Amino acid sequence: MAKGLELIGDPAAGRPTLGETVPIALFRALRLVGMKEGLDSMVGDASTLVYTSGKGVGANLGNAILAQTGKDLGKFIEAVGNQVRSLGIGIMEILQADIENGYIEIKVNECVTCSGSPNIGERVCHFESGFISGILEAFIGKTVNVLETKCNCMGEEGCVFEAKF
Ligand SMILES: [Zn+2]
Repeated sequence: MAKGLELIGDPAAGRPTLGETVPIALFRALRLVGMKEGLDSMVGDASTLVYTSGKGVGANLGNAILAQTGKDLGKFIEAVGNQVRSLGIGIMEILQADIENGYIEIKVNECVTCSGSPNIGERVCHFESGFISGILEAFIGKTVNVLETKCNCMGEEGCVFEAKF
């Protein structure tokens, strides 16, 4: 049975007429209405669930990238940035990296989930926080806790994530 990223299959073959891309509005309907409002309405605060699901996706992608780059942090980060950009997730920028002390601060500009969203007084990128955690854990090999410290949905410019390990 297909697992992880295999579940994506071959969209180009499956959608010869409609193609491989969908509007961001559809992604946000799934991500913010379905995965946020929908799950929140069922369990109260679903942020941990959403974080955990993002982490699974990040782990799949992180392991796939690691298989290509090997244990070279510079190459790994560059490949992650390229992948994040080519998937249209955002434009990644490393603000600080202090590997010895277990700290990386990452900014994502033009975030697929929230750039251009209204200020709702809440940081919403829990999936993305988990996603970054999963990617970094694939390289670092130990638990990486990620917290979003700035978010467009909080009226801040861009999304900033602090990773601690
Ligand atoms: Zn955000």
